[in-house]
Amino acid sequence: MAQLQRLAIAPSQLQDEKVVLTTQQQHYLNRVLRLRSGDRLIVMDGLGKWWLAQLTGAEAQILEPLNVQTELPGSITLMVALPKGNGFDEVVRCCTELGVACIAPVVSDRTLLNPSLQKLERWRRIAQEAAEQSERLIVPTILEPVSFAAAISTATATHRYLCVARGSHSHLQQALNSVSLTSKMLIATGPEGGWTAAEVECAIAAGFQPVSLGRRILRAVTAPVVALSLTAAVLESGST
Ligand code: SAH
Repeated sequence: MAQLQRLAIAPSQLQDEKVVLTTQQQHYLNRVLRLRSGDRLIVMDGLGKWWLAQLTGAEAQILEPLNVQTELPGSITLMVALPKGNGFDEVVRCCTELGVACIAPVVSDRTLLNPSLQKLERWRRIAQEAAEQSERLIVPTILEPVSFAAAISTATATHRYLCVARGSHSHLQQALNSVSLTSKMLIATGPEGGWTAAEVECAIAAGFQPVSLGRRILRAVTAPVVALSLTAAVLESGST
């Protein structure tokens, strides 16, 4: 089963035990992967369901539901101030592999990148590919970029952390000791220039706890990956 190709579909493609494939998916399965009618594959709706399916021309026939469990017990949202260049591509890819549920790109005072609609589509594609590759049940949601101020004022997660590179804040791992395994968590990381003092203040006022990821200064693309690895490890090892 593990060797079968996985294909993420939109839930609307599933009709009467059949998946109606898009032209792009047909091209990918037939031309790129060289699959033929009769070959089997795994179809995932990105919302938590997997099925074993069989290719039949422009469709895939559903054979049976599959029972897999690859998701973290808690739900982690990453709020990431957009790094410059294509740095965010790597953040989306790595954090999807690590089990993130939602990524909220934000524009902070020191963000240099001006996000475009094409970028958002690209990030969503990367999340889908990474979810297929790492056998996720869900494809993480990538929200539209908004300002950091707007994002913190609407954040609803029960546990909210703001990663701050300097200062004597408690370590994220220590802060996580008190959360339950099935919590909803939100972790925010800043841009290359870091958060401004005003942003840190606003976040604290909005219920965020400032935390450290260690004594070294990490790059804007490394920090989210470290924060997520750490949180996933705490959740999966059940040490809370
Ligand atoms: N240029 C800034 C550092 C920015 S690092 C300075 O010199 O102070 C980019 C982002 O990564 C930070 O805003 C923070 O969210 C995160 N980060 C990097 N290293 C960190 C650390 N050791 N602890 C907590 N957060 C860190």
